[in-house]
Amino acid sequence: MNGNPDLLIGGAWAHAADGGLREIVNPADGTVVATVDEATPDDARSAVAAARAAFDDGAWVATPVAERAALLVRIADLLERDKEELAHLETVDTGKTLVESRIDIDDVISVFRYYASLVVGQADRLIDVGDPAVLSRVVREPIGVCVLIAPWNYPLLQMSWKVAPALAAGCTMVVKPSEVTPLSTIAFARSAQEAGVPAGVLNLVQGSGAVLGAALTDTPDVDFISFTGGLATGKTIARVAAEHVTKVAVELGGKNPHIVFADADWASSVDQVLTGVFLHSGQVCSAGTRLIVEESIADDFVAELARRAELIRVGPGLDPASETGPLVSEAHRAKVEAYVELGISEGAKLVTGGVRPSDPALAAGSFFLPTIFDNCDRSMRIVREETFGPILTVERFSTEAEAIRLGNDTEYGLAAGVRTADPARGERMVRALRHGTVWLNDFGYYTAAAEWGGFKKSGNGRELGPTGLAEYQEIKHIWHNTAPKPAEWFKSV
Ligand code: NAP
Repeated sequence: MNGNPDLLIGGAWAHAADGGLREIVNPADGTVVATVDEATPDDARSAVAAARAAFDDGAWVATPVAERAALLVRIADLLERDKEELAHLETVDTGKTLVESRIDIDDVISVFRYYASLVVGQADRLIDVGDPAVLSRVVREPIGVCVLIAPWNYPLLQMSWKVAPALAAGCTMVVKPSEVTPLSTIAFARSAQEAGVPAGVLNLVQGSGAVLGAALTDTPDVDFISFTGGLATGKTIARVAAEHVTKVAVELGGKNPHIVFADADWASSVDQVLTGVFLHSGQVCSAGTRLIVEESIADDFVAELARRAELIRVGPGLDPASETGPLVSEAHRAKVEAYVELGISEGAKLVTGGVRPSDPALAAGSFFLPTIFDNCDRSMRIVREETFGPILTVERFSTEAEAIRLGNDTEYGLAAGVRTADPARGERMVRALRHGTVWLNDFGYYTAAAEWGGFKKSGNGRELGPTGLAEYQEIKHIWHNTAPKPAEWFKSV
């Protein structure tokens, strides 16, 4: 049996009902860094029941908004206190560099502070119905019991985009991190308890999505499912939830174009195309994996990218010299390697990378070198599908219209980048691109106060910003007649 129990159900920490455990592996060297409880479907059902009971009990829902906001601030303060420990957990779990993990935790803290301030500023909407005796107002109420499912690439960050607005709104919840990367979410749940989140309001189960999925989603006891992950899983969850008419928000993948015009600033373009795709070894939903570059500069631009890509220091996330870490697991690296084989067989030109690093010190980790394919086109699966690895494909264009057509020619619509020195063209481009976030002369940035989400098959909800809170709220219209009169409609009496 594991030491500390890792499942939080109804305010009590528990081991899995069947004693099941899972080893958590550091992808940088294959070592086991922790053993955690692996929940059963019964544990997941107990967690949903605890969240249901805590919501229906009414005490949390009735907690004044200012108190809920203060709780969010206390959580943020504890995360600030434990930042180094959390960043360390994120790095040994996901493989990303400590620098990246620290940025992630800073962002998590900012999300809690943002929703604390947003929720206290929300006011009811008063409506003048033309009768001074009638008080008509529109109020926001918590949507209810939420199931919050996060992926492995940004474990605590993605979870915070769900938990912070859910708590702010007055919901209760069951959180399920990826089975591969649960450590920071377990630590977070302990902090939430320390901050004073009441029993049953936040419940935590971790384990295989395939095993726990039905218990968490195929139930009338859940009012809202917020899911971030892959397209296939998102479709499954949406189908299951439809049976119960449960509201679902799915934040899915991306195949994000980064469009570079010939007049774009050279140095920042090279730099940001590289970071846009190779940060966290490409395991980023908004990674700029499709370079769409103007023909006149394409050869020189790709040559410079390749030169710089070969200088990127790939290594363990805990080593301060590393600029990017390993892929999250051996299984995931095998998937990325299969895409490289596919790209070669599809006729793309491998410019650099495409292999594991030769350094024997990295042999035990699931590392893979930054990879660039030139001469790509939209018929190729490496251009259309999310490889979720350090693979950049290059397509070329000659006119603005062609750049727009290529940039939109994807079933996804999560994010896109445009680089040009011409502000008028930049504005035309950002409006023409059908993606949820568009960066002009920048790439990868976001803020807690601005909505995040996708067009098309990248999803159907929004996180962050005021809309990210509205997802967790029901709207109620209250009509209060302070001087009721007979309706005088049915005259026969
Ligand atoms: P995934 O395989 O779809 O898994 C995501 C989460 O769903 C995990 O917690 C997983 O659990 C769980 N899950 C799996 N099957 C389930 C089921 N039948 N019912 C309920 N939950 C289930 O995705 P991933 O490989 O972890 O993450 C990578 C994907 O996430 C990429 O496509 C990426 O683009 C996307 N992503 C999108 C955004 C965004 O903002 N749009 C942000 C980050 C990532 P287990 O892991 O335990 O199986």
